[in-house]
Amino acid sequence: MTRIVALPVRFNAGNTERTLFPVIAGDSKTTVLIDTGFPGQLPLLEAAAEQEGFSFSSLAYVVITHHDIDHMGSLAALKKKYPFVQIVASAIEADYISGVKKSPRLEMAEERLAMLPASEQKATRDYIETLQRVERVPVDKLFKEGELMSCLGGILAISTPGHMRGHISLYFEAMKVLVAGDALGVRDGKLQMADPYYTLNMAQAKDSVQKFLKYDIRKIICYHGGLFEGDCRKALEGVLDSWHVNE
Ligand SMILES: [Zn+2]
Repeated sequence: MTRIVALPVRFNAGNTERTLFPVIAGDSKTTVLIDTGFPGQLPLLEAAAEQEGFSFSSLAYVVITHHDIDHMGSLAALKKKYPFVQIVASAIEADYISGVKKSPRLEMAEERLAMLPASEQKATRDYIETLQRVERVPVDKLFKEGELMSCLGGILAISTPGHMRGHISLYFEAMKVLVAGDALGVRDGKLQMADPYYTLNMAQAKDSVQKFLKYDIRKIICYHGGLFEGDCRKALEGVLDSWHVNE
């Protein structure tokens, strides 16, 4: 039997408790992890997986939805400890994950820094250093739009740019579960559009959410907010209807 679980990774950032939701899915043969938390969070991930009855020793693939620090932060550490794991991402994100191309987040922060007076540069400098310190890793396998991984009843790649250029979401066909990454969010049990502050292109992000309507979806898991259960189609239509408000 295949199981899919949103793994709560809890930690403190300043005075606030934060939770991220990487996803783990597996059957008796294959285990797949989607996204890896911030740098230094591999032990948290391992513990959360173990709590749900999964072991990283049977991990076959780690899919990275996009290269943001909270998604690929612990990827290098994971690959070092479990070198047999295949890293999977879109071609666009693979270049940022491996460091072949500079992250748009880093470029934007550097542009911001150049416009700030010296007395106000500290926070942005720290942020830039934090991004630069993320260890880059080569991607083993590219996942293209419409491509299907045959394990776990079929995992379909859906190209969902907007939040980030090469962002992908995953649709688990047999279980009818959508792993949305940062294409959507969940707050107070409600499905939300992706956080506009971190979204590179809101119009593109909206088109990406529109694509989800093509699929028969029973559950949606978002990296920020976790599991959404309920009428997924209605919730998606609701998000799309209200999108113009914050555009
Ligand atoms: Zn992100």
